[in-house]
Amino acid sequence: MKPSLLVAPLFLLAAGLVPTVQAASSVFDWAQHDWTRPRPAVVQPATPSTQDRPGKPPSDAVVLFDGASLAPWVSLNGSAPKWIVKDGALECVKGSGYIRTLQAFGDCQLHVEWAAPTPPEGTSQGRGNSGVFLMGMYEVQVLDSHENVTYADGQAAAAYGQHPPLVNASLPPGQWQTYDILFTRPRFNDRGEVTSPARLTVLHNGVLAQHNVELVGPTGWLKRDPYRAHPDKLPISLQDHGNPVRYRNLWVRELGADGKRPEFVYDNATLNKLIGSYRVDDGLTITISRPEQLLVANVAYPGRSMPFTLHAQSPTVFYARTFDGLFTFRTNAEGAVESLVFRIGGEDRPARKNP
Ligand code: MG
Repeated sequence: MKPSLLVAPLFLLAAGLVPTVQAASSVFDWAQHDWTRPRPAVVQPATPSTQDRPGKPPSDAVVLFDGASLAPWVSLNGSAPKWIVKDGALECVKGSGYIRTLQAFGDCQLHVEWAAPTPPEGTSQGRGNSGVFLMGMYEVQVLDSHENVTYADGQAAAAYGQHPPLVNASLPPGQWQTYDILFTRPRFNDRGEVTSPARLTVLHNGVLAQHNVELVGPTGWLKRDPYRAHPDKLPISLQDHGNPVRYRNLWVRELGADGKRPEFVYDNATLNKLIGSYRVDDGLTITISRPEQLLVANVAYPGRSMPFTLHAQSPTVFYARTFDGLFTFRTNAEGAVESLVFRIGGEDRPARKNP
């Protein structure tokens, strides 16, 4: 394919002339009881947990902890997590740092089971403290709030520092408790301004604790930071607050069309290896840079260049959200990146890395 043939589809996309996100259908888009209306996917539901045994996640969930594998988790810097797996539970190790999922999520349904340490030690925020951070910055507080008084917006199931839970549905320390969280990520416009804030619903042990509350920004201690534009999907993290809080049966379901394409967040070293300039034989140049956390591919030919944010499907395969293209990086025997294949319009366009 010559550059001229490539121009049309990319140009239309760059000009925003091709819809890339399907709008949610309205009730009035369909006749009532239309037999041809697409039916929802069939899902095998979750089975309930007991104190002795975790239940099974629903069939379409992404399993974050199955009682054994730490593969879905890394430390915040991307290294192997230092939390331990003991008796089917994932236990926080004091001082080892937060852990985060390798996969990134936006709107989601998240199921968490946790147990505070027993016998309890400490008081207030010092007792059985951890936290579930949606997108790494919106905390649903985990705290032993059974007969443990603390500030209302910091007790179990609080949107930390913003919304106290509606009730205190805590079980005693040592017992397994559940959070079922529905999270709607914030939306930002092109100027980075928030157009709709994050929203949160939390059931604590099956009891409604947060009812579609609006977050005013990232949660924090002693401060309420304003929103700052961030990617549509980011990892979920769990807090190391120095207490050996345990977790089990962690699963998440991505909500919306975005969920069809998983995205992962790799460490800096993995991404930095890919940075460079790649040349396709017919004069097309693809420059990979990393202005912030995500990679950007600048696709250029004489007279025109177009930047696209890349999303990781694996450590070497990336996609753009705004058009149907794939960037696959190839390494040599020593593990150095030497080429990439740009797949667009059903055609593979190999590009060699410039030295
Ligand atoms: Mg906490």
